[in-house]
Amino acid sequence: PADPDVEALQHEDVAALLPRPSAESDKYRRGVVGVVAGSARYPGAAVLAVSGALRGGAGAVRYVGPAADTVIARFPETLVHSGPPAKAGRVQSWVVGPGLGDGAAARHSLEDVLASNVPVLVDADGLHLLPAGGDLRKREAATILTPHAGEAAALLGVSREEVEAGRLAAVRALSDRYGATVLLKGSTTLIAAEHQPVRVNPTGVGWLATAGSGDVLSGLIGSLLATGLPARDAASVGAYLHGLAARRTTAPHGAPIAAYDVATALTDTWRDVL
Ligand code: AMP
Ligand code: MG
Repeated sequence: PADPDVEALQHEDVAALLPRPSAESDKYRRGVVGVVAGSARYPGAAVLAVSGALRGGAGAVRYVGPAADTVIARFPETLVHSGPPAKAGRVQSWVVGPGLGDGAAARHSLEDVLASNVPVLVDADGLHLLPAGGDLRKREAATILTPHAGEAAALLGVSREEVEAGRLAAVRALSDRYGATVLLKGSTTLIAAEHQPVRVNPTGVGWLATAGSGDVLSGLIGSLLATGLPARDAASVGAYLHGLAARRTTAPHGAPIAAYDVATALTDTWRDVL
């Protein structure tokens, strides 16, 4: 793009950013990602967010919420906890929101993780629960918001059409308003952070527009955050790998995919980028 304040995400940049475990690393040093997602109504969102988190480089995934039995049955490697996030044990990053619902428990969970001093990714229902006019600069660590156009419109108090007509302006406005890294999802995904060029992810593919694919992305980016990647880089690497994983799955002729297929393709995709 000609705009100097916009940069396309390049393969080499992503390859250089991928975390690599050192000889001394163990699962705790590689980072634990906490996933606060799912509800009685939407247990699948918890499963999908955890599926992405398990393949994003963190040493362990800690699931916190009411879908613990479902998650553990599907992914026995997950640590689970059904009390509040503040009592779940140490994590290096939080993902909060997919399928969380909008009740009092969801609100308290969001407050808990935002009060922590580790990076937090807020998606989906978590975005609807964000305090109005909330300034996330007061947090001790970075915050990432990952809205699609409809969620971005709700946060900005404008129509979805207005966001679609000015996606670059919308992602910048959200980043400025909240003091957060903002990843605006869609046919091209945009990543904005204050005082930095907006990054454009080129890897998306239309079949990614399928239920649950955003939940996989949230878990993936949260996992990259837990490994210690800065927020803007974690969001960028996550979006890039997520799109490539979808491409790999839909190739060569562009067949439809399910969200969980994207998660399972992440390991081979990572290998392609290395
Ligand atoms: P969500 O709306 O939270 O389920 O997330 C949907 C995912 O699909 C995000 O990663 C979007 O960037 C991606 N996506 C949605 N629509 C398209 C599209 N038309 N082309 C490519 N990717 C898309
Ligand atoms: Mg979503």
